[in-house]
Amino acid sequence: MSESSNIPVLICRVLLPAGRDLLASEGYELREGGLDVTQERLRQLAPGCAAIVADPTVPVGPDLLDAAGDALRVVANFAVGHDNVDLDACRDRGVTVTNTPGVLTNATAEIALGLTVAAARRAREAEAVLREGRWSGWDPGALLGLELSGATFGVVGLGRIGRRYAELVRPLAGELLYVARSAKPDAEGELGAVRVELGELLERSDVVSLHAPGGEPTRHLIGAGELARMRTHAVLVNTARGTLVDSIALAEALRDGSIGAAGLDVVEGEPAVPRDLLDAPRCILYPHIGSATHTSRDGMAALAARNAIAVIRGDEPLNPVT
Ligand code: NAP
Repeated sequence: MSESSNIPVLICRVLLPAGRDLLASEGYELREGGLDVTQERLRQLAPGCAAIVADPTVPVGPDLLDAAGDALRVVANFAVGHDNVDLDACRDRGVTVTNTPGVLTNATAEIALGLTVAAARRAREAEAVLREGRWSGWDPGALLGLELSGATFGVVGLGRIGRRYAELVRPLAGELLYVARSAKPDAEGELGAVRVELGELLERSDVVSLHAPGGEPTRHLIGAGELARMRTHAVLVNTARGTLVDSIALAEALRDGSIGAAGLDVVEGEPAVPRDLLDAPRCILYPHIGSATHTSRDGMAALAARNAIAVIRGDEPLNPVT
């Protein structure tokens, strides 16, 4: 019997084989919550666990940490975002928090690009016209959208994913504006990106794509006031976190024509989506599929497992959240 065979690890919901097999090969006892897990069930499974493998749908706060008890060493989040984890509560208990940066950068930037094109070119309306039998033939004035070649792109949060999105749209972009907490001289030099204040970015951009982290500091970064500053033809894309955008204000802005279109992979309060947003015109909605490629999810699963294993062994984690 392996030395680690009696070390329990809590997999809150589901971990793909790329990660699960790594943990199993260490001989850990895997306790799995499953897709429909509740916090109550997690608290029942947690006692004695050395690691909690969580994901963005699982709040990890004092109750769950305390249920795990003194054995707990690490919360390995299966995501780059960590707004579901109470970092202060982890720090207070000496619990390391890790995430999975990098391996989902391409997939998420690609979905942002797809949403940009789909929203700018009214893909949802166009497909509905065809599928509902309302297409009576090619019409030179029908379903006209926004041409992206030469457009001004505004990237909010020029980190890993924002930077990759900027690289993907660079061949299309006339101007490339960005907002970040710190200047990005590399992107300025290599991509010609120009750092501006959020208000200026909103006023000048034809496309605004959000890539800043979730959590309280960015809650409703885009609200009614910000939407009012955007151009009436502008496209808003959100593949970051739903909390960045005030959904009700966005639905109103789409209804009254104060912005052109929206493409959203994430919505505040998901999986519930406000009726206002479902009914809003020129709004494309995806069910949080930004990182949903085989490559990305396998990479995330393996990285989450490697981080958990490293901390349990007493080694430095690969991706500590500071
Ligand atoms: P990252 O490398 O940490 O980049 C985040 C960027 O946001 C940084 O450039 C940061 O600026 C900037 N930022 C932080 N606070 C800001 C604020 N208040 N206003 C404007 N910019 C701000 O993270 P990443 O790997 O690119 O991931 C970004 C986010 O995407 C994650 O946090 C996650 O929530 C989301 N995500 C979603 C999906 C999906 O499935 N839809 C998949 C992956 C990730 P500094 O560099 O100056 O600090």
